[in-house]
Amino acid sequence: MSRFFPPPDRTFEPAPNSPGEHAEECVIVVRGSEVLDRRDEEGCWCPLPGAERGELGATSAIEYFLGQRTGAGWFAIEVAPDFQGEFVNLRALGADLPHHDFDLIGRALQVIDWGRTHRFCGRCGEAMKVHQKDRAMVCPRCRNTCYPRLSPSIITLVHREDEVLLARNQRFPEGMYSTLAGFVEPGESIEHTLRREVREEVGVEVQNIRYLGSQPWPFPNSLMLGFHAEYAGGDIVLQEEEIADARWFPVRDLPSIPGSVAISRWLIDTYLEQRGVI
Ligand SMILES: [Zn+2]
Repeated sequence: MSRFFPPPDRTFEPAPNSPGEHAEECVIVVRGSEVLDRRDEEGCWCPLPGAERGELGATSAIEYFLGQRTGAGWFAIEVAPDFQGEFVNLRALGADLPHHDFDLIGRALQVIDWGRTHRFCGRCGEAMKVHQKDRAMVCPRCRNTCYPRLSPSIITLVHREDEVLLARNQRFPEGMYSTLAGFVEPGESIEHTLRREVREEVGVEVQNIRYLGSQPWPFPNSLMLGFHAEYAGGDIVLQEEEIADARWFPVRDLPSIPGSVAISRWLIDTYLEQRGVI
């Protein structure tokens, strides 16, 4: 199992502004919360060549530079809601993509969504302008500066020896169980969030919290911080409006769990490896 999740993409160098001309330009085309499907016959992701961007008739006045990968400049462009083409949701794509493509497309979706929701200053209502140096929008009237917003959340595998506690969210596909997760609230430490979420969702207490890794989750702007937490006490009591079911599963007899694109799967697999199951 990789020590890191997702495996680090050492080839991508993020930057808020293009440093100049690139020998090659690659475009990720966004429509609403979807991206233009650029998988080839083998399922590999091939971005739109920059030279073809003129055919998009993009609605966004701003074309966002994302960064460089092996000398090529990567951009995100938003098209109109009625633009015709094969668009796909990144969640649906996820299982078929390498992590570095998933993350780069996620980056495009987040930057576009941020730009879309920061067109006007939240303080004085003036139209915002793109910051000259930073990934930020700045108000020319009151100087309010807005950076892309991230919503940190915890995700944790609760375990006790050869059992793991997995839950079914009301929104999950039939039969699917996963680790527990929840957003950090203002004023909370991450450790506090973890204990509160586990207590709220399934009623148990945890101890020996251990951080393992993180994953950007661009739906629309989460940053998932992944943990293992040891069971300390209490019986399972469901938070019924959110959790359809939660149970202790033996590590050698797990239900349907998320695919390898999700950090929840990595948290589970890492524990299975520790217990000698895989
Ligand atoms: Zn302002």
